[in-house]
Amino acid sequence: MKTDLSQKLFAAAKKVIPGGVNSPVRAFRNVDGDPFFVRRAKGSRIEDVDGNKMIDYVGTWGPAILGHAPTSVIEAVHAAAKEGVSFGIPNPYEVEMANKVVDWVPSVEKVRMVNSGTEATMSAIRLARGFTGRDKVVKFDGCYHGHVDSLLVAAGSGALTHGEPDSAGIPNAFAAETIILPYNDAGKLEELFAKMGDQIAAVIVEAYPANAGLILPQPGFMQLMRDITKKHGALFIMDEVMTGFRVAKGGVQELEGLMPDLTAMGKVIGGGLPVGAFGGRADVMDFLAPDGPVYQAGTLSGNPLAMAAGLAQLRELDRQSGYQRLEELGARLEAGVRGILQEKGLGYKFNRVGSMYCLFFTEQEIINLDSVMTCEKEPFKKYFYSMLEQGVYVAPSPYETGFISMAHSNDDIDDTLEAMNVALGKI
Ligand code: PMP
Repeated sequence: MKTDLSQKLFAAAKKVIPGGVNSPVRAFRNVDGDPFFVRRAKGSRIEDVDGNKMIDYVGTWGPAILGHAPTSVIEAVHAAAKEGVSFGIPNPYEVEMANKVVDWVPSVEKVRMVNSGTEATMSAIRLARGFTGRDKVVKFDGCYHGHVDSLLVAAGSGALTHGEPDSAGIPNAFAAETIILPYNDAGKLEELFAKMGDQIAAVIVEAYPANAGLILPQPGFMQLMRDITKKHGALFIMDEVMTGFRVAKGGVQELEGLMPDLTAMGKVIGGGLPVGAFGGRADVMDFLAPDGPVYQAGTLSGNPLAMAAGLAQLRELDRQSGYQRLEELGARLEAGVRGILQEKGLGYKFNRVGSMYCLFFTEQEIINLDSVMTCEKEPFKKYFYSMLEQGVYVAPSPYETGFISMAHSNDDIDDTLEAMNVALGKI
């Protein structure tokens, strides 16, 4: 694969951008390589600056559920931009977006828009603390909730792949307010609440943990989180930044029939523009300024371009009955992958929910971060570069979830499976 221009750009980038990237996982450190630079992306394909074309399973880390640069989103952004790109004054799109979220997400009665998933979880945590008057927050090993100080402890995604679960620069006093538990361990959760339930403001969990591979909850574990928080006067926060509008209109809470107190959202809701949101019970949300004592704000929050892009994406998903089609594509990929693994006698695990999937380079049952960490890096690296050579881009880390989009065709999936057959044959 020709990479001359990418290499030049990366060398130039490293001089003026830390590590040459604006977000760590883009740097390909986990596959011991250098990133390529993208020129353009359309549908299921990306094209790099050297002209290599690839089928993409990263989908800008989740937002591109319709595929790249969908006409509906581009037209909506153009139309909105003609009227002005930012106002800092309430605009009609915000009301339409809030209504859409309240309509689609079962537990959300009121919602506020922000500019990233990180802002969404950060604000939800502050609100939970303000509402309950308590400080402690419970999170789970391997769950990533953005780079919020108090949540960047035992986190997944980039923090995990770089082997630095805790970041420098976070005061011990902040981290001390965060309690980490292993995922899927009901006993530990019950023990903790029995001991200090009256100090806990909230339990926050990735709706389905998808930043350390894709870990699925064991029966009853999520219901326990819901019940135990309620019993002890703590809030239950579901982080649906990745799963929201991705696995179903109403996210995991719709699939699982669970009503969290607060929900963090992002990615798909922004149609590829910088958007996040948090929402939930009206009595809790009313604790926010200007009505309530918990301050939260944003110069660009509810930005008209971002709202128009997100609304266009959600409308189009609905119009195309997106979730049904994404399930079909996901099932096609899964059947193919399982066939390949079986044929090659590989005991690797594969998890999938609709259009989200992860192939784990381990034979261990995947129940928590410890089991994910048994994934073997060297075979993954071989697989990653073989896929890339064959024109398929999967996330450059064994711990990331893959995303299928509406723009992927059955042929794309079949071509991907052929490439996987070759790549996994090298292991
Ligand atoms: N929560 C989850 C579950 C995420 O996957 C992410 C991003 N991958 C975030 C929060 C943070 O979102 P952002 O990168 O937009 O700040």
